[in-house]
Amino acid sequence: MATSDLFLDIPGQEQAIRQLQESLADPLHAYAFLGPQGSGSLRAARDFAAGLLCENGGCGICESCFKVRRGIHPDVLYHEPDGTQYKLDHVTPRKDGPPAHETITGQAQRRPLEGPRTIIIIERADLLRLAAPALLKTLEEPPPTTVFLLLANDFPRDLETIRSRCVVISFDSLQPTTIAEWLIDQGIGHELAASLAEGSAGDADRALLLAKDPDYVQRLALWQQVPDRLDGSGSTATELALEVHNSLKDASAMLEQLQAQELDELTEDSKARGERSLPGKKELLDRHKREIRRFQTNELIAGLAILARRYRDRMLAAERSATPSAPETMRACGEAVDTIGQLVSMLPRNPRQPLALERLFLQLSHEA
Ligand SMILES: [Zn+2]
Repeated sequence: MATSDLFLDIPGQEQAIRQLQESLADPLHAYAFLGPQGSGSLRAARDFAAGLLCENGGCGICESCFKVRRGIHPDVLYHEPDGTQYKLDHVTPRKDGPPAHETITGQAQRRPLEGPRTIIIIERADLLRLAAPALLKTLEEPPPTTVFLLLANDFPRDLETIRSRCVVISFDSLQPTTIAEWLIDQGIGHELAASLAEGSAGDADRALLLAKDPDYVQRLALWQQVPDRLDGSGSTATELALEVHNSLKDASAMLEQLQAQELDELTEDSKARGERSLPGKKELLDRHKREIRRFQTNELIAGLAILARRYRDRMLAAERSATPSAPETMRACGEAVDTIGQLVSMLPRNPRQPLALERLFLQLSHEA
């Protein structure tokens, strides 16, 4: 393993990585990667899958490793919920549901196509509640060639049965300083690294992507201006919400461009190999969609974190000033921070983003 290329680009998770590298020698049938989004757990799961399929024990550079890491290996199957919970017919074949080979338990029974194993990666496994009983038996005793990798921030108590069937690999949430140091290692200047780490929402991948994004500083400034620009009028709040919403939409342009480039390169490669179409194209496009969704959510979370910090700074300034109006300012800013926190906690279930932003800004303009 000493010369492996796997797990190199995951900062701050030495213990988890060591555990995974040791597991490659004699893997079990189910692993739970527990840690916040952006902590590197998804990247680690992908590299672990590469290691499980690699003929060289996890080199990171052979064709099989390359395919897994690009998300186009036919034996690595990704799942995420279509809605707020995994539906039963996503997990197990049902009458009028998707065909068995698209369900999780159906895929668990399939023979690997190219490599020695089938790897099933279940993202947001904390949303398995409804379907957990249907998955449990397969998770306990899958065919010997199937390995499950479940990803979740954490498991709610009623999914303890699922968790107890898995080897748990824990990922810590990344501190901005860890991300900043990692960015500096990648050759990014100190000042930019600190600013990127602040806007990264604890996600090192996102920070690196933002480093290539010429509009990032502008978006950061927009969020920082919000408290000063809110003037108590409803029309200002609405306008500002629209402006922020549009900047969020534009934000993924950079990622979309990189994805288009990746698709072109892989298509050229496969043409050069004489293939009529790109194998794994559907998997690749699915991965791209997941990446965009994740990026946009993180962009919003990072923006809201910047906003909350502005109100916290105001609160501290008021405390220090000790003027007669200080207690009122502190109370109002505290309420603003709470309001922002509530929206963040609702985000995964709240796709109606423009409305939610408008409501938030209206509330903030009355509060502080
Ligand atoms: Zn390899």
